[in-house]
Amino acid sequence: MELTKKDYIFQDIKKLKGIGVQLSKYLKKKKIEKIKDVLFNLPYSETDRSTISKLNELEIGKIQTIRVRVKKLNFPRIRNLPNKINCEDETGEIDIVYFNSREGYLRKIFPLDSWVVISGKINFFRNKYQITNPDYVTALKNKEYVVKNVKKYSLTKGINEKKYRSINEKIIQNLPIIDDWLSEDFIKKNKLIDWNESIKRLHETGESKDLQSKSYRRLVFDEICANFLTLSKNRKRIKKLKKNKKISEKISNKILRNLPFKLTQGQHEALNDINQDLKSNKRMFRILQGDVGSGKTIVSLLSISNIIESNYQCAFMGPTEILSIQHYKLAKKIFKNTQYKIEFLSGKTMQSKKKRILKQLENGEINLLIGTHSLFQKKIKFKKLGYVVIDEQHKFGVKQRSDLALKGGKDCDVLLMSATPIPRTVMMSIYGDMDISKIKDKPSVRKKIITLSKPEKKIDELWPFIAKQISQDNQIFWVCPLIEESKFLDYSSAKNKFNFIIKKFPNKVGLIHGALEKNEKDEILQKFLNKKIFILVSTTVIEVGIDFPNANLIIIENANKFGLAQLHQLRGRVGRGEKQGTCILLFKEGLSENAIKRLKILKQSDDGFYIAEEDLKLRGFGDLIGFQQSGLKNFRFADPIIHQDLFKLAENYITNNLSNINHKKYNFLLKLFDKAEIINVSEI
Ligand code: ADP
Ligand code: MG
Repeated sequence: MELTKKDYIFQDIKKLKGIGVQLSKYLKKKKIEKIKDVLFNLPYSETDRSTISKLNELEIGKIQTIRVRVKKLNFPRIRNLPNKINCEDETGEIDIVYFNSREGYLRKIFPLDSWVVISGKINFFRNKYQITNPDYVTALKNKEYVVKNVKKYSLTKGINEKKYRSINEKIIQNLPIIDDWLSEDFIKKNKLIDWNESIKRLHETGESKDLQSKSYRRLVFDEICANFLTLSKNRKRIKKLKKNKKISEKISNKILRNLPFKLTQGQHEALNDINQDLKSNKRMFRILQGDVGSGKTIVSLLSISNIIESNYQCAFMGPTEILSIQHYKLAKKIFKNTQYKIEFLSGKTMQSKKKRILKQLENGEINLLIGTHSLFQKKIKFKKLGYVVIDEQHKFGVKQRSDLALKGGKDCDVLLMSATPIPRTVMMSIYGDMDISKIKDKPSVRKKIITLSKPEKKIDELWPFIAKQISQDNQIFWVCPLIEESKFLDYSSAKNKFNFIIKKFPNKVGLIHGALEKNEKDEILQKFLNKKIFILVSTTVIEVGIDFPNANLIIIENANKFGLAQLHQLRGRVGRGEKQGTCILLFKEGLSENAIKRLKILKQSDDGFYIAEEDLKLRGFGDLIGFQQSGLKNFRFADPIIHQDLFKLAENYITNNLSNINHKKYNFLLKLFDKAEIINVSEI
């Protein structure tokens, strides 16, 4: 069978000549399995040996290529003295110096009086240029092996650089001309370039390092489009799914009246969005975004009551055991005047109880099941599942999300909840498959957390304050920063701090860190929750979302090491009850101007979305908590700040062209960016 142009790009690299089992294993480690993976593995730097320099124009410290005549070979008979080959060109002289090289070999590559091409790093020693152990030496007639611009690719141990480059070069040379999915007009108008040209340039010139070069921007545009397209196709597919309408409002209004507080405007609007979806005959696939403490849980529970009143069952999943238990308790409280049967299920549930729950789910007795991800085990079958709510969903990728939307069953609506602030520019490229509700305000009863900063050397001023807090029955979080990515180092720094603090407050301090098992962690958190301990020293593992209503002081060490959004989320752990919350940011002396600005933003604002946007401006993208998991980091080439204009362009392009795009062409694009599987594109 003849390969089509496009097949070539998706071909397994093992089929290429010269790639054996061993090499392909190593390449796989770098996620290079198909030809296209080689295309997308861009060079990150280059060594330019392409110009031959005269000896009077050498620059010390630079890698350069020279063309010289071998004038004299010098092999000293004294140990430890290097072999030296003296060469010249029309403009000067140079010594080529070798330590530990055999004479026979050097005589072979440096025939007296012949012209050779040499490439290596230029040094200067005793008033003379020299190259020590040059990278390349070759006869003049073979100069093309040396005289070129050599790209550096990120590879793993076991892959020979030269070999990889030659594979890469061959692939680029054989690259078939692809029928571009963007029209010439569009490319021209938006100052992009065509796909083939872009790939070629990225590998053959230095443009891959310039994130604003035309070739790089073309790749970025494609990547964003692939993403948008996947999300909008998913959205369309989900929107097509019909379901039975559910009732809305009636009961939730009754429960509302019995709540000890009034919903905020934002909560009302969100609940309204959800209710509209519930009573329509289209499936709901919605994300509810709201800062920590904005009161998402109550909104979801109110909507749950509508589902139960419509004779459907609900599943409510939390990210951790403790958080799920908290939701369970809250649900019990809110629904105490109803007949709803609510159960809790996690990996720890006793077998006998689990058996009963499974049975009662299947026969429809249980109305609401709350728990951890064990809710989605295969053997768990609902009689009539009508609603899935997932809290703090940032660990879900697009694929998992779409599975979820489809798996729930015919009449199942889906609500995700997240506190991860996503900047406007990238909202669509992350949640384009979902409808979005945002809670922008916070319950007004909540006092704004007082945020202070303090240099670390004044730490002693804190102890009386802490003692006073404890005497007033307030609890305290003490957060130690992550030191690199080593669990051990994190552990030891947190442990040291723990030892230090417990001397001041015996029996009152607990320690929690990343190296603990999940149930050990839960145990300590439980102790804190039950006020068995008053100070909880931890690395940043404090679970997002758990309500510790009695924690009113948080102390964050080395605060400038955290992203602002992360600091904001940490700060949101305190002041959840009626008492005033305080956050103290400790920092080492000598903060940069930027760091001072960042701390200032935090002190001024308690709006997570505003803070996230400001953080983004000041620090770039990588630091925002939750973004990694939220899918933002799924962009391999696009940078949501640098390429903002392309995000906008792509969004417009896809929304305006979705109905009349050529699917064959675009399916190829989706396949290139590994999206095809998500929306089941088989043909290309
Ligand atoms: P999050 O959005 O972070 O999940 P929660 O749903 O956990 O927030 O709510 C945080 C706290 O605020 C809870 O103790 C909850 O009972 C309380 N709460 C929620 N809505 C309101 C409101 N409108 N007025 C006062 N308190 C509220
Ligand atoms: Mg929550």
